[in-house]
Amino acid sequence: MGLPHEGRVAIVTGAGRGIGLGIATKLAEHGAKVWMVELDEERADQAAASVRDLGGTVESAPCDVSDPESVGSLVSKIIETDGKIDLLVNNAGITRPAMLHKMTFDEWQAVIRVNLSSQFITLNAVSNHMIEAGSGAIVNISSVAAINGGIGQVNYVAAKAGVIGLTKGASLELARYGIRVNAIAPGTVETDMTKTIMETPKFKAKYVDKIAIGRAAQPNEIASVVSFLGSDDASFITGQVLPVDGGGYV
Ligand code: NAP
Repeated sequence: MGLPHEGRVAIVTGAGRGIGLGIATKLAEHGAKVWMVELDEERADQAAASVRDLGGTVESAPCDVSDPESVGSLVSKIIETDGKIDLLVNNAGITRPAMLHKMTFDEWQAVIRVNLSSQFITLNAVSNHMIEAGSGAIVNISSVAAINGGIGQVNYVAAKAGVIGLTKGASLELARYGIRVNAIAPGTVETDMTKTIMETPKFKAKYVDKIAIGRAAQPNEIASVVSFLGSDDASFITGQVLPVDGGGYV
């Protein structure tokens, strides 16, 4: 029996650390060749080397996913090198927290650009190649914040809710070409993004202590769901948003 992603080519954005690094590691372990997209070149190289050390086949791909030209060049390079893209995982994200009445327009735009517009940019660039191939899978990372809101995070909440809309609209358009599009809404995951939550008792009580499973997730627990949704085991699932939150909102 083969691995679920044997012979497949995958792109993972924001793969330099946190959940994205976990996803790239899991997909490589499951047989994919993974293009690890990351803003910072040095971090991209280090992350790729760490997966290679585990036996994975990966390429370091420094690129700003919020820039259409950079994404276009990267997608052309992948097609020239590997001839196809089977799986796209839109994971890159940032936060710029501030209360609504104090949030600057720059803070609003930065989060919308990196968390939402980037997902349009990559889908727009990759879907043509998947349509030509007549197959493909896309997994977009949203957040439980899209469903439940969050204080000091209107930019992030709006961007992650937009990801759900993008996922549903794209899934309807692309199903006829054999392409599935789904989203994952993680709860709290232990990464640099949630360092303040994990280290501040009042935030930890709000975001972690109420999780039914009793702890935050580790990146590989999100990665295994990405691997499933991106594989043929999920061949009849499209247009869905799957919360992976340890029962945080049951
Ligand atoms: P993280 O540790 O902060 O990592 C984010 C990654 O995205 C970094 O590698 C970062 O690159 C990259 N990135 C940021 N802007 C980029 C850009 N313009 N182009 C390319 N790469 C870019 O965050 P995380 O916790 O792993 O989160 C990953 C995703 O899950 C995000 O979309 C986040 O919103 C979502 N999420 C996280 C949680 C959680 O609890 N952690 C919960 C729900 C959803 P640099 O290293 O160069 O900054």
